[in-house]
Amino acid sequence: MFLPDFQAFAPTSLDEALALLNKHGAEGAMPLAGGTDLIVRMKEGALRPRILILLDRIPRLGIIEATGGRIRIGALATYDQLMHSDILHTSAPILIEAAGNVGSPQIRNRGTIGGNIANASPCADTIPALYVLEAEVILQSVSGERRLPIASCFKGSKESMLCSNEVLTYIEFPIPKQPENFFYLTSGQRRALSINKLSVAGQISFAVEETVTDARIAYGAVAPTVLRGVSVEAFLIGKKLTPDILEISSELAQGEILPIADIRSTAEWRRHVTGVLLKRGLASIAAKNKKSESIIELDNKQ
Ligand SMILES: Cc1cc2nc3c(=O)[nH]c(=O)nc-3n(C[C@H](O)[C@H](O)[C@H](O)COP(=O)(O)OP(=O)(O)OC[C@H]3O[C@@H](n4cnc5c(N)ncnc54)[C@H](O)[C@@H]3O)c2cc1C
Repeated sequence: MFLPDFQAFAPTSLDEALALLNKHGAEGAMPLAGGTDLIVRMKEGALRPRILILLDRIPRLGIIEATGGRIRIGALATYDQLMHSDILHTSAPILIEAAGNVGSPQIRNRGTIGGNIANASPCADTIPALYVLEAEVILQSVSGERRLPIASCFKGSKESMLCSNEVLTYIEFPIPKQPENFFYLTSGQRRALSINKLSVAGQISFAVEETVTDARIAYGAVAPTVLRGVSVEAFLIGKKLTPDILEISSELAQGEILPIADIRSTAEWRRHVTGVLLKRGLASIAAKNKKSESIIELDNKQ
């Protein structure tokens, strides 16, 4: 497999990159971040951009900062940077869990959070975590800035809402009330290099009496885009995470996903495992917050 010919520009400012994309976007120019998706697809012959705009010399696109109760992450932040961020350890550990699940050390050193979003795969590791953090994506073009909720960024599998002249610059989200009450669980062929078969993410807040006050659930790789678990979320509000409630949540989850059957798994298997992972994730949060006997831990086989 050989790379097709292309011309590369290496702008050193965002304005320069946006001007280049504006000029060459219609001819099929594409931004390049870590290259772990784009270069592979070019080698396979699936994509043939004649012009690449390298983003890695633009200042500040690799930042991770917290201000005014919000986190801002630059699109060029790599998985390795996410995993070693003190800010995320305290304020959004779910993203550290998601980043740690990606590929291999080589991919975690090169691959970026912006590339993961722009690539728009329903299997992508950071996207379900960003759904439950209710993140916003900031897109910049020569005409200015626009913000999209992460859940509005995707048209379908591998189809994002980004325009050809836009750069994804930052991802922002409010710090969750109880950042430690999260889970991110996956099922797949790991520890090999193949990507997830499916994933379930959750971020929960409780009142003092162990009653759920806010529930955010997302499912990866069980529909053409990542899905928010709206039925489960609505059901959990005001409830305690008892075994009965976990069982009903698991059934609701299986009813609100749209899995396909393919070479990797059957739809039935994906439905069943999604329910199991949701139940396991909620049980782990219940165990962490356990104060009364009404909350019990599930054993690992359930
Ligand atoms: C062996 C292997 C294992 C992998 N394992 C995983 C895994 O476990 N989990 C997972 O989620 N992914 C995995 N991936 C996929 C890939 O590594 C990630 O999706 C990665 O985050 C892509 O980021 P990148 O910076 O390399 O993007 P690139 O390859 O540079 O770009 C990907 C796409 O996004 C566009 N793009 C990139 N940055 C921007 C931007 N800032 N603004 C606008 N458009 C942009 C590019 O034009 C291109 O279309 C794997 C890939 C390989 C090769």
